[in-house]
Amino acid sequence: MPAPALKITVLGSGTSVGVPTVGCHCSVCSSTDPRDNRLRPSILVSYQDHNVLIDTTPDFRTQALRAHIERIDAVLFTHAHADHLMGLDDLRPFSFRRQGQIPIYASPDTMAAIQRCFPYIFDGVQKESSVPQLERRLIDGAAVELFGLEFLPVPIMHGRQTIYGFRFGSAAYLTDHSDIPEASMEQLRGLDVIFLDALRYKPHPTHSTVDTSMKTVEKLAARRAFFTHICHDLAHERAESLLPPHIRLAYDGLEIQVP
Ligand SMILES: [Zn+2]
Ligand SMILES: [Zn+2]
Ligand SMILES: [Zn+2]
Repeated sequence: MPAPALKITVLGSGTSVGVPTVGCHCSVCSSTDPRDNRLRPSILVSYQDHNVLIDTTPDFRTQALRAHIERIDAVLFTHAHADHLMGLDDLRPFSFRRQGQIPIYASPDTMAAIQRCFPYIFDGVQKESSVPQLERRLIDGAAVELFGLEFLPVPIMHGRQTIYGFRFGSAAYLTDHSDIPEASMEQLRGLDVIFLDALRYKPHPTHSTVDTSMKTVEKLAARRAFFTHICHDLAHERAESLLPPHIRLAYDGLEIQVP
């Protein structure tokens, strides 16, 4: 089936501690360029009146208010690290305003961690107060169809852990990774746009760098790329001036149309 036109909104482009980083007075953390303010990493994929959220960061409430999000139709999780998960309870107002549960998709490992972090959401015990109404759906390597668009889980290495990126239509979102297996590279051919982890310039055991992600863009021959999960080592304007024109840094609030 042909993929619908998409809008991707960058809700957060920062690394796990965000930028500015608490207590840091470096030039990027003190920058007045709004693109140097980075909440924790997440995107919203919008098409045909549906909104699919990738990850619920600790900043999710702020991100939802800032982007004027009024409905969430499904959530996909990349992995269960705190910077991708801890805003889960803030799905509550979205479940007040809809019929039925919001489906959440995660690998068995990630779903188990979600249940450990938020046992009260899933224990089935009648509550005196509200909890988000969520329906758990496990994903393996198979594509998931959501409202006429297929989301393909793409296995990527985040240090020693395998987590998921997602391809949808001619777009892909690959946050936290240090390596992309060859079989996954094959799933990423012919992209219009790819989002890639590019934490900083210096190597890191669980994250990609600007150089490594530039090589990934080149290998995949993606038409355009946006780097994300960025720490305070990169000043937006300066870092972009060193990149080729088809590779940009994502920033919070950035909206991209995918034909
Ligand atoms: Zn992360
Ligand atoms: Zn700093
Ligand atoms: Zn992570």
